[in-house]
Amino acid sequence: MTVHLATASTSHAQSELGCVIEPPQRASAVAHWDAETDVLIVGAGAAGASAAIEARRLGAEVLLLERASDGGGSTALSGGILYFGGGSELQQACGFEDDIEEMFKYLLAASGPNPDELKVRMYCERNLEHFAWCKAQGLTFKPSFYAKKTTEPPGDDGLLYSGNENVWPFNVIAKPAPRGHKPAVIGSAGRVIMDVLLAQASKLRVRVLPDTRVVGLVSDDAARVVGVVARQEGRAITLRARRGVILSAGGFIMNRSMLAAHAPKLLNVSLQIGNPGDDGAGILLGQSAGGYAIGMGEGFVSVPFYPPSKLVHGVIVNAQGQRFINEDAYHGRTGEYILRQSGGSAYLILDEPHFGRPLAGMQLKAAGESVQALEAELGLPQGSLVHTLAVYNEHAQRGEDPLFHKSKAYLTPLSHGPYAALDLSATRAIVPGFTMGGLDTLPSGEVLSALRTPVRGLYAAGRTSCGLPRSAAGYSSGLSISCATFFGRQAGISAARAEPVA
Ligand SMILES: Cc1cc2nc3c(=O)[nH]c(=O)nc-3n(C[C@H](O)[C@H](O)[C@H](O)COP(=O)(O)OP(=O)(O)OC[C@H]3O[C@@H](n4cnc5c(N)ncnc54)[C@H](O)[C@@H]3O)c2cc1C
Repeated sequence: MTVHLATASTSHAQSELGCVIEPPQRASAVAHWDAETDVLIVGAGAAGASAAIEARRLGAEVLLLERASDGGGSTALSGGILYFGGGSELQQACGFEDDIEEMFKYLLAASGPNPDELKVRMYCERNLEHFAWCKAQGLTFKPSFYAKKTTEPPGDDGLLYSGNENVWPFNVIAKPAPRGHKPAVIGSAGRVIMDVLLAQASKLRVRVLPDTRVVGLVSDDAARVVGVVARQEGRAITLRARRGVILSAGGFIMNRSMLAAHAPKLLNVSLQIGNPGDDGAGILLGQSAGGYAIGMGEGFVSVPFYPPSKLVHGVIVNAQGQRFINEDAYHGRTGEYILRQSGGSAYLILDEPHFGRPLAGMQLKAAGESVQALEAELGLPQGSLVHTLAVYNEHAQRGEDPLFHKSKAYLTPLSHGPYAALDLSATRAIVPGFTMGGLDTLPSGEVLSALRTPVRGLYAAGRTSCGLPRSAAGYSSGLSISCATFFGRQAGISAARAEPVA
């Protein structure tokens, strides 16, 4: 019997929006295993490839299953920024001081109301070893700092502020330091990260099965997960794992049924960049065997209105003509706060000297010779924008922002018309996205049940699990891939060391 966990629909169009997972099969009912290995890994993205490398290094036989024709997942689509700190060689070379405790304080605050303190602590204390591991796989980093406000450095500079480290309120919680580390590539580095990891896996003789979509788990009589059911060219195959199954199949941003159930705020964003493989399969597979999913309401919605960085001098207002955030915040935090406004509406107000077009192409919503004219053109309540700009300009003149503590570097009165408003509304702006919730896991990668007991034989990492990044309002670029690679490694090590099933 097939159970449609995410959607009951079987029509082609709708099934693309959901994900069909079968209930776990009993091992005793499997007549024939198509293949057998020590560690089975579902999904060849950053987490899966890192798990495969570590499990293989420990001598385990590894089978890496990938639904697409090639590995990479959303990691390959990404900017490829990683998150390292506490005095990395790039930080030192570029003249920045940092220490593990400041990094820990920042990450704990940035992980929102429910940080996983154990994972944050473990990552901070071991991140420099992980940096060395990434380099040992073949990644290189140029020791140069990109100082402008950006989503990712356009060239091959290696170090940048990739989050809210140097903006309020985080700059009073922990000593700021840039911790975004981008491999030495012109432009986005995600594909390079995946090429390096997959090449390493192949060198270690990890067997990869492309075009193989896992649709169910297999458990033994003691409820230990011992294999998977997959579809390959329309045919069902059954694969046995002697030591463990690792779920590293990404998140669920492409599964509208799951978004409706868990993160409805993400349903109406104008999602333009994402991985079709993020259909929630990994999470649903884990749940089918008793795993518990947490943090499912959180997702990253970036509204990248900069670069150019001069746009950060503008003022962002909602449909009531009021400011609600320091405009120098990281674009993901701004995106989250825009979603919290009524109707998800937001406008970037600029005067003539600060006007420009964002690289991401946000549209002009209105223009006016005066603030009053712009306010009327935008349909804002009478006097609202005039008042907001009067208060902002009065304080900006003195280099102050008593409401949201925007950095002095971007505080300039907006007083030279004409004025313009760019549309940053979540339904219109270009918004890449991914989800942050997933299976509850121990730092070892073991999947936990609702009672926080491990589901035997089952591990998860990357966006299939709920890891370091847990808060859209506190997210920093680099946390996802660092989390996926680091905790993917831990899952690979744990599964390789597990007692084999008889
Ligand atoms: C545009 C964009 C830019 C980003 N930039 C950054 C950045 O600079 N830094 C950062 O840290 N994060 C960034 N992210 C987020 C980050 O890329 C992801 O969160 C992270 O790479 C996820 O890694 P993963 O290994 O969990 O999943 P993925 O890399 O997505 O890998 C999962 C794999 O599992 C496969 N799969 C899915 N279901 C199945 C199944 N049933 N059977 C078999 N295989 C399956 C998928 O095809 C995929 O290959 C960005 C995301 C986007 C969309």
